[in-house]
Amino acid sequence: MIISPAFKDKCYAVLGLARSGAAAAEALIASGARVVAWDRQDVAREPFEGRCRLIDPLELDLTGFAGVVVSPGVPLNSHPIAPHVWQYGLPVIGDIELFAAARPSLPPHRVVGITGTNGKSTTTALTHHILQSAGIASVMGGNIGDPILDQTPLPEGGVYVLELSSFQIDLTFTLDCDIAALTNITPDHLDRYADFATYAASKERLFQMQVNGTALICDEDTPSRAIADRLDDAGKPPVRIRSSDLDTAGLADVRSPSLAGPHNAQNASIAVAICRQLGLDDGQIASGLATYPGLPHRMERVCDAGGVVYINDSKATNAASAAPALAAFPPDAAINANSPRIHWIVGGLPKEDGLGACADHLLNVAAAYTVGEAGPMFADLLDGQVTTHRCELISEAVRRAAEAARPGDVVLLSPACASYDQFRDYEKRGTHFRQMVRAITGCDGGGDAAQSGAAS
Ligand code: ADP
Repeated sequence: MIISPAFKDKCYAVLGLARSGAAAAEALIASGARVVAWDRQDVAREPFEGRCRLIDPLELDLTGFAGVVVSPGVPLNSHPIAPHVWQYGLPVIGDIELFAAARPSLPPHRVVGITGTNGKSTTTALTHHILQSAGIASVMGGNIGDPILDQTPLPEGGVYVLELSSFQIDLTFTLDCDIAALTNITPDHLDRYADFATYAASKERLFQMQVNGTALICDEDTPSRAIADRLDDAGKPPVRIRSSDLDTAGLADVRSPSLAGPHNAQNASIAVAICRQLGLDDGQIASGLATYPGLPHRMERVCDAGGVVYINDSKATNAASAAPALAAFPPDAAINANSPRIHWIVGGLPKEDGLGACADHLLNVAAAYTVGEAGPMFADLLDGQVTTHRCELISEAVRRAAEAARPGDVVLLSPACASYDQFRDYEKRGTHFRQMVRAITGCDGGGDAAQSGAAS
């Protein structure tokens, strides 16, 4: 656990005692802070009974408090806690801000912060993997893996690799990353922000918090380029990254199969740039790239049944993240260069009105199987462009796709939507897909990669 004298005798409220909130409350209690904690669920409050005051901070006069810790799942744009805390002039913070405050008492270390709309988890896990395979002490945390405050502090020279969603950045004010990296910015989470510009500005704050650190920006989209330009104007020029950097560095061919596709060229280029900044040489980086095992629910190969490959890309919760999955399987020239081979299972809770960047890759799609709340909308858009089957449930979509697919084809769950219409989260959706594939095809091969993070 990460504890710090910075919290001693200060008073904090913690709202939400799920994973990161519980870790924050534990770290604060262990650091000698006075803690008020609350969760509307009894079972979440139970471990803290008798150890701190259990009351909803909304009912409290917060005068004298140092801050209120909330989970990144709390929508600051609509939840009453934010205005309640602000009226006392206090910050609404998250566990990453507590980590930032604890840094001075940790052994000398470096922090890498990785944000972006898509590719955060992959870039974070890959960076961590390259560091570990080079023998450098590192942990990953933030929006992936165990809560950062739950982890054992690293010895001197260690690297904390943090995946940071915009929600986490909104709760962070003093994290001075030695290296901060941006993968890309495309529309997402617009229910939590006034508009797209506000969402992009939230990501930009990661760089504004840097004092002397290095900014790495993949400037392949307009909002990311604008951030890089503003850093130039501010006299803090970022290192600009391109997906093609991997080819230039001669590293494209050493990538493990888990890093296939154009989107992973982007993620890997950023991870390579981060590792170079941290002082690794290309030999160390190449061996890490070659051995990266991948994350579940991101282009995860579930099985190969009779020459048909089943891919679980449940983490593709927006159109921009599903598009590269469609791009990754063009017709196979060895079979028939004109014959599309993707059986695309798409739909869920819609985040956007259309197909976004997926529309550019429909020539790769043999048939679409629409599911969930967005199903009818997608079916209307796709009808006339590709063969479309209106399915409602993933189980039905897998069954019909398995019937239609021929050897060399790919059955791909890449929903371009959130999962909450039918599942608790994208992990439950991906696990359900895996189970359906195994039940329907009778194959049971692999596909259960290491456990990874939660919210996106
Ligand atoms: P995040 O943590 O930002 O959500 P992940 O690495 O978990 O990103 O990938 C989420 C989804 O986005 C996956 O479906 C993956 O195929 C897709 N994806 C990954 N990297 C990129 C990228 N650089 N650009 C677009 N889509 C991507």
